[in-house]
Amino acid sequence: MASAVIERSTVEQIVRQVAVEYLRKNQNRNAPVLTVQTSSRHMHVCREDMDILFGPGSELTFDRPLFQEGNFAAKETVTIVGPRNRLISNLRILGPMRKRSQVELAFTDAIMLGINDIPIRLSGDIAGTPGAIIIGPKGVVELKQGVIRAAIHVHMNPGEAAYFGVSRGDRMKLRIGGEAGLTFNNVHVRIDPSSRLNVHMDTDEANACGLHLIKDIELFK
Ligand SMILES: [Zn+2]
Repeated sequence: MASAVIERSTVEQIVRQVAVEYLRKNQNRNAPVLTVQTSSRHMHVCREDMDILFGPGSELTFDRPLFQEGNFAAKETVTIVGPRNRLISNLRILGPMRKRSQVELAFTDAIMLGINDIPIRLSGDIAGTPGAIIIGPKGVVELKQGVIRAAIHVHMNPGEAAYFGVSRGDRMKLRIGGEAGLTFNNVHVRIDPSSRLNVHMDTDEANACGLHLIKDIELFK
């Protein structure tokens, strides 16, 4: 199965940082530098589930920082089991802890697990999404919901939003050049004062457009 090859190549790459930077074609010196990153499958845990999976009062162990300030890949991993008893092990946890647990998978990950109807959602919007069994070293959690395919999105601060002329909830386009080039038409805008400009896409999306090879990239309204 072709997707199995993709899976192996992406194992343990939590965020495959692709150093894609671009300048506006007009060479505007004020243009913010855009970074595009690939998010491999991962989980966010809440305090309650952390207690069950890793033991009461346990904390996430910092492994390496992510691009957005304060976010990090933890050393902790879990195993996720889908409805057909297929599983993916070494599912990385990203910190810090959140109010609600959530698993973000690429579509091929979901198919492997037997979740054929995984919805595309923005992070945190998990009402009515599929659940899964999560196995940690100290216990097992049955997630009633929270398994999503994260919608491609761009993080930016209010100044960068003003530069692009966009508001929270808008969608932008991301044009990727190169041999496998394509344009993503529904890049969700997420604005936060603490954010740094960057696009998050999943491994399927990155593989489809050959992101790791690309130097030519453009974000626009
Ligand atoms: Zn993101």
